[in-house]
Amino acid sequence: MDFCDVLIAGGGPAGSSCAWALRHSGLHVVVLDKQNFPRDKICGGWITPEVLTALKIEPDSYASHGVLQPITAFKTGCIGRHSPAATDYGTPVSYGVRRCEFDYYLLKRCDARIRYGVSVNTIERSGKDWVVNGDIRARLLVGAGGHFCPVARKLTRAIAAPVVAQETEFEMDSEQQTRCPVGGTVPELYFCPDLKGYGWCFRKGKFLNVGLGRLDPHELPAHVDQFLKFLSARNAFFHQVPRLRGHAYLLYGTSPRPFAGDGFLLVGDSAGLAYPQSGEGILPAIESGLMASEVILSARGDYSPTRLEAYARKLAHRFGHTSGSWAMRAARHLPAHTLRFAARQLILRPRLARSIVLDRWFLHR
Ligand SMILES: Cc1cc2nc3c(=O)[nH]c(=O)nc-3n(C[C@H](O)[C@H](O)[C@H](O)COP(=O)(O)OP(=O)(O)OC[C@H]3O[C@@H](n4cnc5c(N)ncnc54)[C@H](O)[C@@H]3O)c2cc1C
Repeated sequence: MDFCDVLIAGGGPAGSSCAWALRHSGLHVVVLDKQNFPRDKICGGWITPEVLTALKIEPDSYASHGVLQPITAFKTGCIGRHSPAATDYGTPVSYGVRRCEFDYYLLKRCDARIRYGVSVNTIERSGKDWVVNGDIRARLLVGAGGHFCPVARKLTRAIAAPVVAQETEFEMDSEQQTRCPVGGTVPELYFCPDLKGYGWCFRKGKFLNVGLGRLDPHELPAHVDQFLKFLSARNAFFHQVPRLRGHAYLLYGTSPRPFAGDGFLLVGDSAGLAYPQSGEGILPAIESGLMASEVILSARGDYSPTRLEAYARKLAHRFGHTSGSWAMRAARHLPAHTLRFAARQLILRPRLARSIVLDRWFLHR
């Protein structure tokens, strides 16, 4: 039987950030991930600069390892309407990364013992310890396995309506790179008419990422189809977009999963932390991994619920209370036609699109 102090189930940004922050702690940390890295992750790969700041990553240094596409402007529009509006910031306000590179980079520098290609299958309590897969004993479990995290599924009974999204990322050949109408520094965002989701075209050097996410899980394929037809009608280039693949995740304030309990913490998508307005999940995953590490250190080996509940307080302090903003609560009670009208005003008026949609919802400015 192997032994560790902290077993992190999942080596995405949440799990690797937690491990990275514990690297000088003297604690024996093991990360298990069911996949072999580098691995793909269904994601747009858009990150805000706080991601790099939180992890002390110099943009130039990262760019020497992999794709780091600076974003200095956005185009925003509505699906079905032409002529998106451009908002230019004149300086990088976000970046684009490839998740296959980014996640591997984070894992390699976290200095923990990493077991690639090992799925967490069984979790049993043994006194105050956990026994995982019958062969690793751990004092504390960190659930970092994303939306379908085995720790969250074993220790909590959570059913909530997730965001559903589909995307594809493909490498363009030189002819496609010339013909691609999307500029690397200017991602394009097209909102669904009911504002329950948006599609994106996001170029990162020679890679193009196209996708659409929605709060309403029922008719995603129809919305994706409508979006692709809209893009293709604007430019025949989009006929070449390969098939999109889907995944789900929970937004902050919609997940009934507890953040912590007796001997466990949930971080990132496992806890359901993505920003409700933009769906950005990488930053909350990283920040929650870092907060979890602070709580682990201050618990000094006492992983009882009373010591670990400090983590839930930190999350509430950082992301607000889980009932959501007053605007979101009010929106749930508004009739559909009022919402559609409000959505059109927001997206189609350049000043509102910049100050509310981009500055506030997407860029935290
Ligand atoms: C289509 C789409 C587009 C998105 N675009 C963006 C975007 O542009 N920007 C953004 O900020 N967010 C985006 N998100 C959200 C973002 O991808 C997630 O919020 C983020 O990846 C969460 O990180 P995580 O570490 O919690 O989980 P993950 O990145 O999902 O990592 C979980 C890890 O756990 C491993 N794992 C799972 N089960 C097990 C098991 N049983 N045993 C061992 N290991 C296991 C997995 O292999 C994986 O490596 C998008 C999501 C989707 C679906």
